[in-house]
Amino acid sequence: MTVKAILKAKGSDVVTIEPSATIAAAVKRLAEHRIGALVVHGPDKRVVGIISERDIVFVLAERGAGILGDPVSQVMTRKVVSCGLAETVSSVMERMTAGKFRHVPVIEENRLAGIISIGDVVKHRLGEIERETAALRDYILTA
Ligand code: AMP
Repeated sequence: MTVKAILKAKGSDVVTIEPSATIAAAVKRLAEHRIGALVVHGPDKRVVGIISERDIVFVLAERGAGILGDPVSQVMTRKVVSCGLAETVSSVMERMTAGKFRHVPVIEENRLAGIISIGDVVKHRLGEIERETAALRDYILTA
């Protein structure tokens, strides 16, 4: 299955934030949407980073609550690993495993086209396993 097929089912909405927004605003947005990461974009809507709940927890543990007023740009990861619509879910899964992250923005023609989370990948994989099991069961019963 491709990234495109997953986005067709879940939609292409991505919750974003500006690099100049405060970390407190990022926390609020993550909580409002009940998600784990925000894509950071510049004024031209190009992706300039990603900030996840993990980044915020680590910086809070290191430097305390005073950082909540600091800009997102100070904490975000700048080198974002992304994928394209035509890629397979397996290749995205491999990228998540290798990079130890749970969110991969989808970029098409320099534009944000969606986001794939580890939850989407697991859901897809479970569906696949269930279909394989059903096919094997049918085969055994009819052989
Ligand atoms: P996560 O597992 O998504 O909470 O992210 C764990 C760490 O990887 C955090 O430092 C994130 O900023 C970073 N991260 C998350 N997604 C990506 C990505 N697609 N590309 C690069 N870094 C990422």
